[in-house]
Amino acid sequence: MPASRDLREGRVVIVGASLAGLRAAEALREEGFTGSVTVVGDEPHPPYDRPPLSKQVLLGRVAANATGLPMRRDPDAQWRLGVRAIGLDAVKKRVMLADGESLPYDRLLIATGTRARPWPNPAEAALDGVFTLRTSDDAERLAGRLAAGPRRVLVIGAGFTGSEIASACRELGLEVTVAERGPVPLVGALGRTLGVLAAGLQHAHGVDLRCGVTVTALRGNGRLTGAELSDGTRIDADVCVVALGAVRNTEWLGTSGLAAGTRGVACDAGCRVFDMYGIVTDDVFVTGDVARFPHPLFEYQMLALEHWGNAVAQAEVAAHNMVSPGPLRRPHLAVPVFWSSQFGLNIKSVGVPTFSDEVAIVQGSLAERRLVAVYGYRGRVTAAVTIDMAKWLEHYQRLIETAAPFPPGPGAADGSAVAGFPVPSDVPDPARLSHGPTVALTGYLPDRRLVLVRPAD
Ligand SMILES: Cc1cc2nc3c(=O)[nH]c(=O)nc-3n(C[C@H](O)[C@H](O)[C@H](O)COP(=O)(O)OP(=O)(O)OC[C@H]3O[C@@H](n4cnc5c(N)ncnc54)[C@H](O)[C@@H]3O)c2cc1C
Repeated sequence: MPASRDLREGRVVIVGASLAGLRAAEALREEGFTGSVTVVGDEPHPPYDRPPLSKQVLLGRVAANATGLPMRRDPDAQWRLGVRAIGLDAVKKRVMLADGESLPYDRLLIATGTRARPWPNPAEAALDGVFTLRTSDDAERLAGRLAAGPRRVLVIGAGFTGSEIASACRELGLEVTVAERGPVPLVGALGRTLGVLAAGLQHAHGVDLRCGVTVTALRGNGRLTGAELSDGTRIDADVCVVALGAVRNTEWLGTSGLAAGTRGVACDAGCRVFDMYGIVTDDVFVTGDVARFPHPLFEYQMLALEHWGNAVAQAEVAAHNMVSPGPLRRPHLAVPVFWSSQFGLNIKSVGVPTFSDEVAIVQGSLAERRLVAVYGYRGRVTAAVTIDMAKWLEHYQRLIETAAPFPPGPGAADGSAVAGFPVPSDVPDPARLSHGPTVALTGYLPDRRLVLVRPAD
């Protein structure tokens, strides 16, 4: 075991220059790391924040190039921006870059996140007017097109990103159609009860919501003119935003021998990456959206999260463990937290709503569109979602952390509430949705993608 002093020296390479990469670089310095830190990012921009892209930027309130992430401290790093990592030699400990260079490292942190899932037909995807939204460049182009006042916007996929885009369009006074394969919006993240609420919300705000359909073709001649749906209808639209979820950026690790694939890069609870045989490495770490990691509160299933807060918390744990000897390492145990704002509502979630078999409205009501929904799995609390009631979230977080019984007792938070009757949470298999889930329970095996919804014993 090297002395901790040695771990504070040497060469660290971080691949991925966004939220997780930046926060890890800062945390390495906080932890007393004095060696070199090199951060490689394929985007030309310094690290920036993505949540505003589907919110304030589309509304024209913030410029796409003005969401730069504030630095908590100078990470004293060498930034290699605008260059992609294309390979990893884990034996020689080198990262290969697209410009022909290879970077040697003593410890490597993988923070390559995700990208938008493209429309599957490349010719249709290339039509003028077809967009995805992941980067600030995407947001700049899309915001410009929305500001020009298209006649109708088609959003494919009613997950969080698609729903936020539809909300922004309505706020801009634009006609918008949302097409979703699942039965209701947000169902893949929140289940059917809140999905029904989300559908009502979209209708109330004038969205032309089409659920239970798929888009079978985009039409146009150079420029998009419309789309065909599986129910035989045609939508005329001059802008289409493909919001089909995310793809994990792991291709560059294809021959690395690491446990990296379409579900992400698998690691232990201390962010150490597994190799393809499931043996833990000690010099390669992973963090953020690209990671899949076991969480004790969720039966040690591998979680793959697309959550801002997780990227920050996990980066700090990864950085700590990169410079700490074994006994001083710590596990990444943060309870997942997520937020979204759409159609004037603030939605916040703690825990993993998809890890549930039942849900109960315990404060507020669906009719008021102001509530706390608590999710349970096999009789214990695993998640809570608030709609315009975020102040109670902490209380429910404690219930999740202590595996409190589900449903929680009446008046669990403020003494005035009466716990609603639990109903099945009805979280569908992600394969039945247009959009990808923002949390994937990827199962114990690398080739399994599943959300287990088992009846209570
Ligand atoms: C439009 C939008 C809205 C969102 N809203 C919310 C929200 O409201 N709440 C919330 O909790 N989360 C939200 N998120 C999710 C949140 O932004 C992510 O969880 C967070 O960005 C994850 O950070 P990351 O650093 O792990 O990955 P990313 O931010 O994906 O960064 C990875 C970086 O690595 C780069 N990269 C990839 N491959 C390579 C390579 N081979 N070589 C070099 N560089 C590479 C990528 O280009 C990217 O710059 C939103 C995301 C988007 C896109």
